[in-house]
Amino acid sequence: MMTPVYKRILLKLSGEALMGDQEFGISSDVISSYARQIKEIVDMGVEVGIVIGGGNIFRGLSGESQGMDRVTGDHMGMLATVINSLALQNSIEKLGIPTRVLTAIEMPQIAEPYIRRRAERHLEKGRVVIFGAGTGNPYFTTDTAAVLRAIEINADVVIKATKVDGIYDKDPVKYTDAVKYDTVTYSEVLNKNLKVMDAAAISLCRDNKLPLIVFNSLVEGNIKKVVLGECNCIGTKVI
Ligand code: UDP
Repeated sequence: MMTPVYKRILLKLSGEALMGDQEFGISSDVISSYARQIKEIVDMGVEVGIVIGGGNIFRGLSGESQGMDRVTGDHMGMLATVINSLALQNSIEKLGIPTRVLTAIEMPQIAEPYIRRRAERHLEKGRVVIFGAGTGNPYFTTDTAAVLRAIEINADVVIKATKVDGIYDKDPVKYTDAVKYDTVTYSEVLNKNLKVMDAAAISLCRDNKLPLIVFNSLVEGNIKKVVLGECNCIGTKVI
Protein backbone atom coordinates (compact mmCIF):
# COMPACT_ATOMS: atom_id res chain seq x y z
CA MET A 1 0.00 0.00 0.00
CA MET A 2 1.20 3.54 -0.75
CA THR A 3 2.26 5.52 2.31
CA PRO A 4 0.86 9.01 2.83
CA VAL A 5 3.39 11.73 3.65
CA TYR A 6 0.95 13.44 6.04
CA LYS A 7 -0.63 11.93 9.13
CA ARG A 8 -3.18 14.65 9.78
CA ILE A 9 -4.42 17.17 7.23
CA LEU A 10 -6.81 20.08 7.10
CA LEU A 11 -8.63 20.12 3.78
CA LYS A 12 -10.18 23.44 2.74
CA LEU A 13 -12.97 22.96 0.21
CA SER A 14 -14.44 25.90 -1.63
CA GLY A 15 -18.15 26.51 -1.33
CA GLU A 16 -18.17 28.05 -4.78
CA ALA A 17 -16.73 24.91 -6.41
CA LEU A 18 -19.57 22.93 -4.86
CA MET A 19 -21.97 24.52 -7.36
CA GLY A 20 -20.39 22.62 -10.25
CA ASP A 21 -22.15 23.78 -13.43
CA GLN A 22 -25.09 25.19 -11.50
CA GLU A 23 -25.68 28.88 -10.71
CA PHE A 24 -26.34 28.22 -7.03
CA GLY A 25 -26.47 25.49 -4.42
CA ILE A 26 -24.91 22.06 -4.17
CA SER A 27 -24.08 19.85 -7.15
CA SER A 28 -24.60 16.20 -6.24
CA ASP A 29 -21.79 15.22 -8.65
CA VAL A 30 -19.25 17.52 -7.00
CA ILE A 31 -20.16 16.59 -3.43
CA SER A 32 -20.10 12.87 -4.25
CA SER A 33 -16.69 13.27 -5.87
CA TYR A 34 -15.41 15.05 -2.75
CA ALA A 35 -16.79 12.25 -0.56
CA ARG A 36 -15.16 9.51 -2.66
CA GLN A 37 -11.82 11.32 -2.60
CA ILE A 38 -12.04 11.81 1.17
CA LYS A 39 -12.84 8.13 1.70
CA GLU A 40 -9.74 7.20 -0.32
CA ILE A 41 -7.42 9.07 2.01
CA VAL A 42 -9.21 8.01 5.21
CA ASP A 43 -8.77 4.41 4.04
CA MET A 44 -5.03 5.13 3.80
CA GLY A 45 -5.02 6.06 7.51
CA VAL A 46 -4.91 9.84 7.11
CA GLU A 47 -6.73 11.88 9.80
CA VAL A 48 -8.89 14.42 8.00
CA GLY A 49 -10.27 17.75 9.23
CA ILE A 50 -12.30 19.77 6.72
CA VAL A 51 -13.42 23.37 6.42
CA ILE A 52 -15.89 24.04 3.65
CA GLY A 53 -16.84 27.54 2.45
CA GLY A 54 -20.28 28.94 1.80
CA GLY A 55 -19.83 30.97 -1.39
CA ASN A 56 -22.26 28.74 -3.32
CA ILE A 57 -25.05 29.98 -1.04
CA PHE A 58 -24.21 33.33 0.53
CA ARG A 59 -21.28 35.67 1.15
CA GLY A 60 -21.36 38.57 3.61
CA LEU A 61 -19.71 40.90 1.09
CA SER A 62 -22.39 40.30 -1.55
CA GLY A 63 -25.05 41.01 1.07
CA GLU A 64 -23.30 44.27 1.90
CA SER A 65 -23.17 45.26 -1.76
CA GLN A 66 -26.97 44.95 -1.80
CA GLY A 67 -27.31 47.25 1.20
CA MET A 68 -27.36 44.62 3.93
CA ASP A 69 -25.59 45.10 7.24
CA ARG A 70 -22.18 43.39 6.89
CA VAL A 71 -22.28 41.56 10.20
CA THR A 72 -25.73 40.12 9.44
CA GLY A 73 -24.48 39.10 6.00
CA ASP A 74 -21.47 37.36 7.54
CA HIS A 75 -23.72 35.52 9.98
CA MET A 76 -25.72 34.30 6.97
CA GLY A 77 -22.46 33.29 5.24
CA MET A 78 -21.39 31.27 8.27
CA LEU A 79 -24.78 29.53 8.35
CA ALA A 80 -24.28 28.71 4.66
CA THR A 81 -21.07 26.86 5.57
CA VAL A 82 -23.09 24.77 8.05
CA ILE A 83 -25.53 23.76 5.28
CA ASN A 84 -22.56 22.66 3.15
CA SER A 85 -20.97 20.88 6.11
CA LEU A 86 -24.12 18.84 6.74
CA ALA A 87 -24.43 17.96 3.06
CA LEU A 88 -20.80 16.81 2.98
CA GLN A 89 -21.21 14.83 6.22
CA ASN A 90 -24.16 13.05 4.66
CA SER A 91 -22.23 12.18 1.49
CA ILE A 92 -19.18 10.91 3.40
CA GLU A 93 -21.25 8.86 5.84
CA LYS A 94 -23.10 7.23 2.92
CA LEU A 95 -19.70 5.74 2.03
CA GLY A 96 -19.39 4.30 5.53
CA ILE A 97 -16.95 6.81 7.03
CA PRO A 98 -18.01 8.19 10.44
CA THR A 99 -18.06 11.99 10.29
CA ARG A 100 -18.77 14.72 12.82
CA VAL A 101 -19.71 18.36 12.22
CA LEU A 102 -18.43 20.76 14.89
CA THR A 103 -19.65 24.33 14.64
CA ALA A 104 -18.09 27.56 15.88
CA ILE A 105 -21.61 28.92 16.49
CA GLU A 106 -23.55 26.65 18.80
CA MET A 107 -26.50 24.78 17.31
CA PRO A 108 -26.51 21.57 19.37
CA GLN A 109 -29.70 20.19 17.82
CA ILE A 110 -27.87 19.66 14.55
CA ALA A 111 -24.12 19.59 15.29
CA GLU A 112 -21.62 19.43 18.13
CA PRO A 113 -20.10 22.67 19.37
CA TYR A 114 -16.47 23.21 18.39
CA ILE A 115 -14.25 22.06 21.25
CA ARG A 116 -10.62 21.53 20.28
CA ARG A 117 -9.99 18.48 22.46
CA ARG A 118 -13.16 16.85 21.23
CA ALA A 119 -12.11 17.46 17.62
CA GLU A 120 -8.74 15.84 18.31
CA ARG A 121 -10.40 12.83 19.93
CA HIS A 122 -12.66 12.33 16.90
CA LEU A 123 -9.63 12.52 14.60
CA GLU A 124 -7.66 10.01 16.69
CA LYS A 125 -10.60 7.63 16.39
CA GLY A 126 -10.51 7.89 12.61
CA ARG A 127 -13.60 10.07 12.24
CA VAL A 128 -13.64 12.84 9.67
CA VAL A 129 -14.23 16.19 11.38
CA ILE A 130 -15.95 19.02 9.49
CA PHE A 131 -15.56 22.44 11.08
CA GLY A 132 -18.67 24.50 10.33
CA ALA A 133 -19.55 28.18 10.78
CA GLY A 134 -16.05 29.46 9.99
CA THR A 135 -14.31 31.10 12.94
CA GLY A 136 -17.67 32.12 14.42
CA ASN A 137 -16.78 35.78 13.84
CA PRO A 138 -17.79 38.21 11.11
CA TYR A 139 -15.14 39.86 8.88
CA PHE A 140 -13.23 36.59 8.52
CA THR A 141 -13.17 34.03 5.73
CA THR A 142 -13.29 30.27 5.75
CA ASP A 143 -9.67 30.30 4.52
CA THR A 144 -8.68 31.92 7.82
CA ALA A 145 -10.91 29.44 9.68
CA ALA A 146 -9.13 26.58 7.88
CA VAL A 147 -5.67 27.79 8.87
CA LEU A 148 -6.78 28.50 12.44
CA ARG A 149 -8.27 25.02 12.89
CA ALA A 150 -5.23 23.42 11.23
CA ILE A 151 -2.95 25.06 13.80
CA GLU A 152 -5.25 24.16 16.69
CA ILE A 153 -5.44 20.46 15.75
CA ASN A 154 -1.71 20.29 14.86
CA ALA A 155 -2.34 19.38 11.24
CA ASP A 156 0.79 18.71 9.16
CA VAL A 157 -0.50 20.73 6.22
CA VAL A 158 -3.42 22.76 4.87
CA ILE A 159 -4.61 21.51 1.50
CA LYS A 160 -6.64 24.11 -0.32
CA ALA A 161 -8.87 22.85 -3.09
CA THR A 162 -9.59 25.28 -5.92
CA LYS A 163 -10.87 25.21 -9.48
CA VAL A 164 -7.40 25.85 -10.94
CA ASP A 165 -4.39 23.58 -10.71
CA GLY A 166 -2.12 25.74 -8.54
CA ILE A 167 -0.76 29.26 -8.05
CA TYR A 168 0.20 31.31 -11.13
CA ASP A 169 2.15 34.55 -11.48
CA LYS A 170 -1.01 36.05 -13.03
CA ASP A 171 -4.57 34.98 -13.70
CA PRO A 172 -4.33 31.91 -16.00
CA VAL A 173 -7.89 32.45 -17.19
CA LYS A 174 -7.05 35.93 -18.54
CA TYR A 175 -3.40 35.47 -19.57
CA THR A 176 -2.24 32.57 -21.75
CA ASP A 177 1.42 33.18 -20.78
CA ALA A 178 0.72 32.81 -17.03
CA VAL A 179 3.33 30.58 -15.35
CA LYS A 180 2.49 28.12 -12.57
CA TYR A 181 4.72 27.95 -9.50
CA ASP A 182 5.73 24.54 -8.13
CA THR A 183 6.74 26.15 -4.84
CA VAL A 184 6.45 29.72 -3.64
CA THR A 185 7.11 31.39 -0.27
CA TYR A 186 4.48 33.02 1.92
CA SER A 187 6.27 36.35 1.62
CA GLU A 188 6.18 36.15 -2.19
CA VAL A 189 2.45 35.41 -2.05
CA LEU A 190 1.90 38.47 0.14
CA ASN A 191 4.32 40.82 -1.67
CA LYS A 192 3.20 39.90 -5.18
CA ASN A 193 -0.42 39.85 -4.04
CA LEU A 194 -0.95 36.41 -5.58
CA LYS A 195 -4.58 35.40 -5.25
CA VAL A 196 -4.32 32.32 -3.04
CA MET A 197 -5.96 33.11 0.27
CA ASP A 198 -6.64 36.38 2.03
CA ALA A 199 -3.69 38.05 3.74
CA ALA A 200 -4.88 37.13 7.26
CA ALA A 201 -4.88 33.41 6.39
CA ILE A 202 -1.49 33.57 4.64
CA SER A 203 0.11 35.48 7.55
CA LEU A 204 -1.26 32.97 10.04
CA CYS A 205 0.27 30.13 8.00
CA ARG A 206 3.61 31.90 7.73
CA ASP A 207 3.81 32.86 11.41
CA ASN A 208 3.07 29.26 12.43
CA LYS A 209 5.25 27.61 9.74
CA LEU A 210 2.30 25.67 8.40
CA PRO A 211 2.77 24.36 4.84
CA LEU A 212 -0.03 25.01 2.38
CA ILE A 213 -0.75 23.18 -0.86
CA VAL A 214 -3.08 24.63 -3.49
CA PHE A 215 -4.48 22.21 -6.07
CA ASN A 216 -7.47 21.47 -8.32
CA SER A 217 -9.97 19.28 -6.49
CA LEU A 218 -12.31 18.91 -9.45
CA VAL A 219 -9.98 16.34 -10.99
CA GLU A 220 -10.90 13.17 -9.14
CA GLY A 221 -7.94 11.47 -7.46
CA ASN A 222 -6.02 14.70 -6.86
CA ILE A 223 -6.58 14.75 -3.09
CA LYS A 224 -4.95 11.32 -2.83
CA LYS A 225 -2.03 12.45 -5.01
CA VAL A 226 -1.43 15.46 -2.75
CA VAL A 227 -1.50 13.27 0.36
CA LEU A 228 0.99 10.88 -1.28
CA GLY A 229 3.37 13.80 -1.82
CA GLU A 230 2.86 14.13 -5.56
CA CYS A 231 1.91 17.77 -5.24
CA ASN A 232 4.63 19.15 -7.58
CA CYS A 233 2.99 17.71 -10.66
CA ILE A 234 -0.53 18.77 -9.73
CA GLY A 235 -0.38 21.79 -7.46
CA THR A 236 1.68 24.50 -5.80
CA LYS A 237 3.28 24.26 -2.37
CA VAL A 238 3.61 27.40 -0.26
CA ILE A 239 6.46 27.22 2.26
N1 UDP B 1 -17.69 33.99 7.21
C1 UDP B 1 -17.52 34.79 8.33
N2 UDP B 1 -16.58 34.43 9.26
C2 UDP B 1 -15.80 33.32 9.13
C3 UDP B 1 -15.95 32.53 7.97
C4 UDP B 1 -16.90 32.89 7.02
O1 UDP B 1 -18.20 35.79 8.51
O2 UDP B 1 -14.98 33.03 10.02
C5 UDP B 1 -18.77 34.33 6.23
C6 UDP B 1 -18.39 35.40 5.22
O3 UDP B 1 -19.55 36.19 4.98
C7 UDP B 1 -18.04 34.60 3.99
C8 UDP B 1 -19.04 33.46 4.08
O4 UDP B 1 -19.10 33.16 5.48
O5 UDP B 1 -18.20 35.32 2.82
C9 UDP B 1 -18.70 32.21 3.30
O6 UDP B 1 -17.36 31.86 3.43
P1 UDP B 1 -16.27 32.03 2.24
O7 UDP B 1 -16.59 33.25 1.43
O8 UDP B 1 -14.92 31.97 2.85
O9 UDP B 1 -16.55 30.72 1.39
P2 UDP B 1 -15.85 30.17 0.03
O10 UDP B 1 -15.21 31.33 -0.69
O11 UDP B 1 -14.82 29.17 0.41
O12 UDP B 1 -16.96 29.53 -0.72
